[in-house]
Amino acid sequence: MNTSPLDIDQDILDSIERWSERELKPIAKKYDHADEYPEEIVEQMRELGLFGATIAPQYGGLGLSASTYARLVTQIASIWMAPVGIFNSHLIMAACVQRHGTDAQKARWLPKFASGEWRGGIGLTEPNAGTDLQSIRSVARRDGDSYVINGTKTWITNGVYGSHFAVLVKTDPEATPRHKGMSLFICEKGEGFTAAKKIRKLGYKSIDSAELVFTDYRVPADHLIGGSEGRGFQQAVGGLELGRINVAARGAGIAQAALRDALRYAQERQTFGKPIAQHQAIQLKLADMATRVEASRLLIDQAAQKYDTGERCDLESSMAKLFASEAGVENSLEAMRIFGGYSYSIEYDVERYYRDAPLMCIGEGTNEMQRIIIARQLMERNPL
Ligand SMILES: Cc1cc2nc3c(=O)[nH]c(=O)nc-3n(C[C@H](O)[C@H](O)[C@H](O)COP(=O)(O)OP(=O)(O)OC[C@H]3O[C@@H](n4cnc5c(N)ncnc54)[C@H](O)[C@@H]3O)c2cc1C
Repeated sequence: MNTSPLDIDQDILDSIERWSERELKPIAKKYDHADEYPEEIVEQMRELGLFGATIAPQYGGLGLSASTYARLVTQIASIWMAPVGIFNSHLIMAACVQRHGTDAQKARWLPKFASGEWRGGIGLTEPNAGTDLQSIRSVARRDGDSYVINGTKTWITNGVYGSHFAVLVKTDPEATPRHKGMSLFICEKGEGFTAAKKIRKLGYKSIDSAELVFTDYRVPADHLIGGSEGRGFQQAVGGLELGRINVAARGAGIAQAALRDALRYAQERQTFGKPIAQHQAIQLKLADMATRVEASRLLIDQAAQKYDTGERCDLESSMAKLFASEAGVENSLEAMRIFGGYSYSIEYDVERYYRDAPLMCIGEGTNEMQRIIIARQLMERNPL
């Protein structure tokens, strides 16, 4: 009997579910509260092939579709969201190389990215520029066979523990429109490129978010993704459709976790002689929470399926990202209310969901920007 790709995808999802329940669940609280990097988990994620999840099999990756990858992310995030960032940001960097790199660049980097031997992330944001990426100030100046980079990136996931980053800079700061002067380089840490400081955060603990500083950092010219200048902005934002589906999947995972824990607690906790789940006020919350989880799943599936067919899906991925990230925030807050005073105790996981969820409303384009993208797409698809 032949094994179909769908069977293989289901096998992978089953093994991720078993792994996250068995390995992640028991340690999430300890690492989160200590804000400690989970080395043992990173090693296990390497063995599971997660650092190559969406990298093509010819380079040693699993080559998962966006649909399967989104389900995998939701599953892990429903146990502990933070570790997803360790392979997700890395895979966004890998996707830039896979989609836009030359053959030589793919052969040089993708196998080591897929194995997790070289890990990293994506460096776009700067202290003065997040949403308005075209106003970044980092500059790469050509000098013989290399470029010399100066500038600072901030909030970069995997900034301390990663070795390689796709870094957006200006190769022509005077260009108009501004994006025509932007380029993306794969930069490896070394002389002139260091992680300056780890940023302390509300949630998304254990994962390093850092400032990256480039001081006369010399990068070989053949590290320019695609080989020609001026395409960096499109290369960087081109990956955002998939990035949004992934952030949506993380939000959905948190929304699911909050529902699961609240549903259990509401059936255990008694007030006025009956479980609180028997009070209508609590039932209304549970019903809304469950509906948000299902609606998130359907929106994510729709966006991911469209992405997998190669169709443009900015409307769908923005809707999924907007809805599912807000679902994570709303469900975690509702879970806090259902847990009452105990929600404030670090004994339960709901306080972590509540601290982790808001990030999904910010990353891969804030939800304000998602609404603007949705509205623009509506008008583009429905002209007068
Ligand atoms: C934990 C964490 C991890 C991150 N990881 C990474 C990473 O790995 N790599 C990376 O490059 N970046 C990363 N970021 C940065 C993130 O992508 C930015 O924070 C995000 O893009 C928003 O940019 P900003 O913070 O500069 O906000 P700003 O751009 O200053 O926006 C501030 C507010 O203004 C609103 N706003 C801005 N412009 C408009 C407009 N035109 N219309 C309406 N509203 C607008 C925004 O929606 C927001 O509400 C991370 C951030 C965090 C918190």
